[in-house]
Amino acid sequence: ASGVSLLRDPRYKKGLAFTERERDAHYLRGLLPPTVACQHLQEKKLLHNLRQYQLPLQKYIAIMDLRERNERLFYKLLIDNVEELLPLVYTPTVGEACQKYGSIFRRPEGLFISLKERGKVLEALKNWPERSIQVVVVTDGERILGLGDLGCQGMGIPVGKLALYTALGGVRPSACLPVTIDVGTNNEDLLKDEFYIGLRQRRATGQYADLLHEFMNAVKQNYGEEVLIQFEDFANHNAFELLAKYGTTHLVFNDDIQGTAAVVLAGLLAALKVVGGSLADHTFLFFGAGEAGTGVAELIALEMSKQAEAPVEETRKNIWLVDSKGLIVNSRKGSLQHFKKPWAHLHEPVEDLLSAVKALKPTILIGSAGVGRAFTKEVVETMTSYTERPLIMALSNPTSKSECTAEEAYSWSKGRAVFASGSPFHSVEYNSRVFVPGQANNAYIFPGFGLGLVISGSLRVHDQTLLAASEALASQVSPEDVEKGLIYPPLRNIREISAQVAANVAKVAYDLGLATRLPRPGNLVEYAESCMYSPVYRNYR
Ligand code: NAP
Ligand code: MN
Repeated sequence: ASGVSLLRDPRYKKGLAFTERERDAHYLRGLLPPTVACQHLQEKKLLHNLRQYQLPLQKYIAIMDLRERNERLFYKLLIDNVEELLPLVYTPTVGEACQKYGSIFRRPEGLFISLKERGKVLEALKNWPERSIQVVVVTDGERILGLGDLGCQGMGIPVGKLALYTALGGVRPSACLPVTIDVGTNNEDLLKDEFYIGLRQRRATGQYADLLHEFMNAVKQNYGEEVLIQFEDFANHNAFELLAKYGTTHLVFNDDIQGTAAVVLAGLLAALKVVGGSLADHTFLFFGAGEAGTGVAELIALEMSKQAEAPVEETRKNIWLVDSKGLIVNSRKGSLQHFKKPWAHLHEPVEDLLSAVKALKPTILIGSAGVGRAFTKEVVETMTSYTERPLIMALSNPTSKSECTAEEAYSWSKGRAVFASGSPFHSVEYNSRVFVPGQANNAYIFPGFGLGLVISGSLRVHDQTLLAASEALASQVSPEDVEKGLIYPPLRNIREISAQVAANVAKVAYDLGLATRLPRPGNLVEYAESCMYSPVYRNYR
């Protein structure tokens, strides 16, 4: 690269970090001020600047601008400050960014496939400047986080998720492709918004399946069978259908269903170290039976089936779910959505959560209905009346939707509950003990999971690979963490955690014959680590 492109191309750029020798060798003399600064100092400066902004959205804009300006510095900053920056690059701030995406839009950060590209999807993929893609994250914008239909402005989500694939999982930035499928939006506010960037029409349901099919086939044709396609933030009717439809022909993964399932199962496995017993000794009750609820329930049943060597039809019977119509039971009138059918056990109708708790006496309660404050004092006290250590997971996001707060869970259970949540909560002091709530963050799983598939050249996702990811994550929780009530490991260790997750996923993929990268590496953890992208500046000789 010539001097000017070294200074301008975000992949090569190092700003003041170009050494004297590089400045001589690459015609940079006079183009930079005299100071030579190291990458670490640049990080320090950026973090300082970032902290000056009052509003999270300003911080988001600043950090995403950095990504367009100096790619390595962006990833270095993100890796070294995960706990501080994750909530900006991902939930909750990315949600606000999507809502206002049209007005903060500066440059396209991913590929837009709208109805206008019908019949030309392959052409659009070929227009993307990178050739060798390993991970595609795609949304249709219909159910962005807990914020509903944001149409084309959902693009912030695949962009953010892929930034985490690189920062936390070590997938090369150039191998990541964010995609938004635009078939319109049913969001009236956006349709009226003069700055909206998407198709100005209601969702075209008739052409939806065809456009998706063209897209799925074009991706496989252009990048090969080993490309991972992650579905993200689809509404649940499409999410279950797409996963079932393409699961046998493509390498597909739905983070809302499967990633959530793996991260929650890992927390449960770690929690058993304090709560006691094996999974099969517990009774599970879910509040919410959508993508998250049924996905988690099924993976728990599979893990139980594996541990107890019992058929999954049997192990499902310990697991009950409540939806907006009450407890899911076989006596319910009217038709059940197909993904709820395995959970319709023999029982009379039960109308509400508290009655279900009283009737079933669950020892593990998991909330994923997106209804804030649903775990009332009475619910928690009832659980505490028949079980020594109730396990309570309040998964709904954002914080305002959480089923209860950490403080409520600890105080209502008199310090006996083990608590984890979807949104972060601070530590709580109760009866002069400090309790640290865990956060069931999908970022613990998907970057390492994807890396494991990519480095082994896996052709399909299998339930056993999901269990492998969960078990690897649970094994990273130390006895000291669990003692404090913390059922997830500290996020600051996420690169090592991802390598462990990737290695275990790859191991199972090889064992099952799903992996095509041969020969099989001897030490998979070392191999995973050696494959991970490093954002440290390179030397230009
Ligand atoms: P979803 O597919 O739309 O499912 C929502 C479920 O909640 C449905 O079964 C719905 O019942 C039920 N529900 C809604 N209102 C209810 C009420 N008043 N009483 C009882 N049940 C009710 O959504 P999802 O993708 O599963 O996500 C749900 C929540 O989980 C969101 O807040 C999301 O942020 C959170 N989540 C957290 C994590 C995490 O912490 N890592 C991961 C994924 C999702 P019907 O089926 O009868 O409509
Ligand atoms: Mn999601």
